[in-house]
This record gives sequence, structure tokens and C-alpha cells, in this order.
Amino acid sequence: MSEFHSLKISPDLLAVVQELGFERMTEVQAAAIPPLLEGKDLVGQSKTGSGKTLAFALPILEKIDPSRRATQALVLCPTRELCTQVAREIRRLGRRINTLQVLIVSGGQPLGPQISALQKGAHIVVGTPGRLVDLIRKGRFDAGDINTLVLDEADRMLDMGFEDDMRVILSEIPGTRQTVFFSATYPPSIQSLSGKYQNKPARITIEEPEDGKTSIQHVYFPAEQDEKPKILSILLRKRDPEAALIFCNLKASIADITQKLRHEGFSADLISGDLEQRERDEVLAKFRNGSVRFLVATDVAARGLDIAALPLVVNYDMPVDTETYVHRSGRTGRAGQSGVAISLMAAHEKSKMMDIQLETPIRFEPGQLGPRGQGPLEPRPADMRTIYIAGGRKDKVRPGDLLGALTGEAGGLDASDVGKIEIHDRFSYVAVAREVAESVIKKLAHGRIKGQRFMIKLLD
Ligand code: ADP
Ligand code: MG
Repeated sequence: MSEFHSLKISPDLLAVVQELGFERMTEVQAAAIPPLLEGKDLVGQSKTGSGKTLAFALPILEKIDPSRRATQALVLCPTRELCTQVAREIRRLGRRINTLQVLIVSGGQPLGPQISALQKGAHIVVGTPGRLVDLIRKGRFDAGDINTLVLDEADRMLDMGFEDDMRVILSEIPGTRQTVFFSATYPPSIQSLSGKYQNKPARITIEEPEDGKTSIQHVYFPAEQDEKPKILSILLRKRDPEAALIFCNLKASIADITQKLRHEGFSADLISGDLEQRERDEVLAKFRNGSVRFLVATDVAARGLDIAALPLVVNYDMPVDTETYVHRSGRTGRAGQSGVAISLMAAHEKSKMMDIQLETPIRFEPGQLGPRGQGPLEPRPADMRTIYIAGGRKDKVRPGDLLGALTGEAGGLDASDVGKIEIHDRFSYVAVAREVAESVIKKLAHGRIKGQRFMIKLLD
């Protein structure tokens, strides 16, 4: 049974899942959620992108008592970036629980505010092992009411040298509580942790799907040309995807659409054939590293773009031919993971949908905007910002040098604040967590990288 409504969860949770457009459970969800709802310990192993977050978040949310302002669930993640993602997914799923407090507790930020937030009471804490151990040592983390502990990406936490910290936390939270491990692999180190800290855990292993099959959902919304900006905005607010590529047919309209999105507060940029190589590199780097969430493009400009599969592709206009539609929608859907292609369709564009359905196995379904005024209304900024460094491969700059400069004395960042590092011949881009970007750039302006001074600036 992969239907969400086969689960014993509250109608509100079920409704949110439906609002988010999740049609059915992924394999790991179908296997893990029922035992988790029963309170069993579990070791779940499945690959990246298979929906593990929801698999543990839903049971946690189902069990939370929002009227008690005490920490009832703790989720450990290896990096601050992952904490942010997991916390966001939990908040998104928990958006109908009015008073829900989800707190991120991770390094790279002052302890003080995190301590006071903990004192005020957060139902769910998502944190990195290092910071949590700091808090536990200072007596600032009360684990007394925790009934679920999740170690997300347990294998990566071990790879990053967190084993001691993990053991401290696991010992702090007695085994009588539910203990859950999620991991992409199941190395002996995890087996040993599981043996020591879990109680007859259910073991779930999801095999890789053969030949990386993807499933793409094709959805359309009737929208006349003048309604499209509005509908696009509602869609992006409601679905709130991490990132999306928005395709237009006309080069002339991409600037306008990007402007409108920005005006509303969306993190958006455009890519067009008119950009100079340098501008193009910059926009793409920002999109790839999470500094820009929505990229508006024409087919020509997007051809050959080296970007990972996206959760959402939007056809602001229906493409002129079927082949282009297939190309565009192929940008969504990761291996074994569903993607969504949404088309905004004016009446005169419907015939194109019919053609596509005649010529391919693709089937469109009508989308629903649902009741207005529900869900997150404010567009949120991108998680990261990009630092430009005027030194690259030819200047012998390597990723480790940049990481070293950012996290060393000069930069002062936590490694988990550093995202993707992209090195070109003569310049580099580094993504850093948005909250720390301004301060790190000030510090770095006076420092050196590999003994050299490079021009450094923070990109918008
Ligand atoms: P993992 O932790 O296994 O790498 P995530 O939890 O980050 O995977 O999920 C990957 C993406 O899949 C997220 O964008 C999430 O919103 C989406 N997702 C999760 N569950 C479903 C589902 N049942 N149907 C469609 N998309 C889903
Ligand atoms: Mg995950």
C-alpha cells in the first residue's frame, strides 16, 4: 500500500501531503512509516532523493503534542545545510499544526540565541552533533521529554568524524525512546552503533531501482497569458520547491518574468543567449549552488546546461514542438524519484498538449491551485550566497585551499556553512550559508588564500 491515506495519520497531515502534491509514498516511506508510527526502532537505508525526510518527519509530527512546550523529537544531521533542509521539510509538513516550533541548532552561529530559543521551548530540534554536544555539556539541552531520536545521514556523520559526538547524544537519550537511523549505506560502523543503541530495530533496505527509472508527473493549469504571472506566483508559493527552471518561448519575456518574480520577493534570475560568458557562468554557479532558486530561461539558453535534475520544471509557455517538451520535462525527476513538469496553458496552447499526448506516452493531468491563502505566503530567500574569488585553477587554487581559508582563522566559518565550491581557470565561486555571508566576506577581505591576495566579493 503506497497510498498516504492508508496510513493512520491525522487528517491535517494527510491534507498537507496532498496539498504538496505528493501522490503516493516512495518505497522507503511505505516501508518505514508504519513501523515508525508504532514506535519501533528502525534502520532505514535508501539512496539520496528517495524521500527519507518525510519518512521520519511524518511519524514525528503525528506524535508531537503541540500543547507541551518541550522538546519531543531530536533530529541529527551532519551539516547545517542539511539541518536547514530537514527543518524546512518538517515545517512544511507541519504547517497545519499552528503552534509548532522547529528549531535549528547548528554550529557557525552564536550559541546565545540558540540557548534562549531552547529555553522558550521547541517541539522539534534539528541539529548538528557538534553543536548539540556543546549544549549538552553546558547543561543547556534538556533531553528529558524526547521520545524520538533520528540520526539522518548517519553514514555521513560518521564520515565527518562525528562518531564520538553521536555516542554522547545517543547515551544522553535512553534507549527506551524510539531511535531511528537513516543512511544511504550500511557500513559496519552503523551496525555497531545500531547494536549498541537500538532496541530490536526494523531493518529496511531499498534496492536501487533498475536503470535509474524516473517518473515525471505532467500537470497543467489553464491560464491565459495575462493571468500567467499571478498563477506562477501562487504555484511557487504553494509548492515551495527548492529550485525550479521556468521555460518561456520568447527571449523578450524572460526579463519581464524574472523582474516580476523578484519584485514579489522570489529568488530568481534569468539565463539568455544575450548574457556574456562571465554573466552566464555566474548565474549558473548561483543556481547550482543554491544561491538562486528560480531560473527563467529560453530553450536555446538552457540547452546543454549542466545542472542536476530539479524538483520542478515550469512551462510558462507551451513549447512549439513535442521534442522540446520532452527535453524540458526531462530536467525534472531524479533517478527513482518523481519530478513534476507544470504547464501554464492558455486556451490556444491546449492543442499542443493534445499533440504531445498523441505522439508520446505522456499524459497530462489538470492541476489544482486549491484554496487561496493557505500554505507559506512569503517567498523565502535562497539558503546560500555566492562568494566570487578572482583566483582559479591557473592560480593553483584548489577546493581545500578555499575551504581552509573560509573555515580557518581568517574566515571563521563552520565547515557546514560552506556549500558547493566551483573552481574555474581564473576565478572561483563558493557558496556559503546566507546568514554568515556578509561577515565572512569582511574577514576574508584582509586574509590570504595560499599566501596570495585575491579580489573577493559577495555576489547578489
Ligand atoms: P532523501 O533524504 O532520501 O535524500 P528527501 O527527503 O530529501 O530525500 O526527498 C527528496 C525530494 O523528494 C524532496 O524534494 C521531497 O519533497 C520529495 N518527496 C518526498 N516524498 C515524496 C513523495 N511521496 N512524492 C513525491 N515527492 C516526494
Ligand atoms: Mg535526506
